[in-house]
Amino acid sequence: MPTAVPKTGKVLRKSSLWNSREVSKNQNGSSDHVMEYSSFTTALLRWFAQYGRELPWRGIADPYGIWVSEVILQQTRIEQGRDYWLRFMERFPTVEALAAATEDEVLRQWQGLGYYSRARNMHAAARQIVELGGFPRTIEGLRALKGVGDYTAAAVGSMAFGLPAAAVDGNVYRVLARHHGIDVPINTTRGKRTFEALAQDLLPEDQASAFNQAMMDFGATWCTPRSPRCIVCPVADTCDALHTGRVSQLPVKEKKLKVQERRFSYVYVRHKGKTALRRRPAGDIWQGLWEPLLVENGPLPELGCTLNLLARGVKHVLTHRILLVDFYFAEALVPPALPAGYQWVDEADLGDYAMPRLVEKLLELLHP
Ligand code: SF4
Repeated sequence: MPTAVPKTGKVLRKSSLWNSREVSKNQNGSSDHVMEYSSFTTALLRWFAQYGRELPWRGIADPYGIWVSEVILQQTRIEQGRDYWLRFMERFPTVEALAAATEDEVLRQWQGLGYYSRARNMHAAARQIVELGGFPRTIEGLRALKGVGDYTAAAVGSMAFGLPAAAVDGNVYRVLARHHGIDVPINTTRGKRTFEALAQDLLPEDQASAFNQAMMDFGATWCTPRSPRCIVCPVADTCDALHTGRVSQLPVKEKKLKVQERRFSYVYVRHKGKTALRRRPAGDIWQGLWEPLLVENGPLPELGCTLNLLARGVKHVLTHRILLVDFYFAEALVPPALPAGYQWVDEADLGDYAMPRLVEKLLELLHP
């Protein structure tokens, strides 16, 4: 049974997930407080102690080095990122050195990593940090640095300063969705809130750094997208996806429908107090509503009179569609032949015809 995730985002723990006690001792060896972790958290921390990756920035307390590693790894594989981190730290060993460099120097060092806005933002943030007199020591302060989002702020804050903030990235979504059997789409606001609340709930406040790194490593090396190592998984006993056969189905992503762009030209033609309208056909937007002469992606109609442009490129946004529309007005002395489906109606009766909001915009231009 999946862990219940009520709308508040607060996670109700199953007792089987919350049965482990970790006792933290003071320097005299006596217990000074008792931390209760979920069995998931305990198992993950143990796994990390044994299988955590050895990386050059691991174990350092320098917020600058940690930050550089997090920025490099945002869109770079770890093998490539490792070499870049070593070279970058050799060339700019401190945040002051980075702040003092020219943008060209920074970009040269970044060459080959791509996504150069990362380097530019980092350079600008280094100057912010130097102006502040050092790294901010709060999540809000870190978040205020150029290019630093929730994930990076939590990662740097927890690893450099021990701040109790869960760093939630794609690895964490995957691990939690599978282990807790959560099928809320991860690319929705509700999903983001749900997983952030759960990760924060599982985070042991006195071991935030280890927990965040454990989640990253576990997702990257054990609970991987395509071939998770369920047989040797330390949390297999309590993994909902494994027990319900949904490992390959979780996490869930909501399919984003492609936004379609359409180009319309509406021509309001008037002849002796009448105008041409048609009822929109079935199988398209605004079925059954009325509209003036419409041309989609084609040449304007020959009406035997001048077409006056009233507005060009009016943007009208619908669900999954963006319409870019030109409005025209034509005064016809001789009644033009109308395309099939159109009919003349008295302008005085226009109020009797239901029309889409877009057509109302055209009428507003004609009768302000
Ligand atoms: S049992 Fe498999 S799916 Fe579940 S957490 Fe472990 S590796 Fe991931």
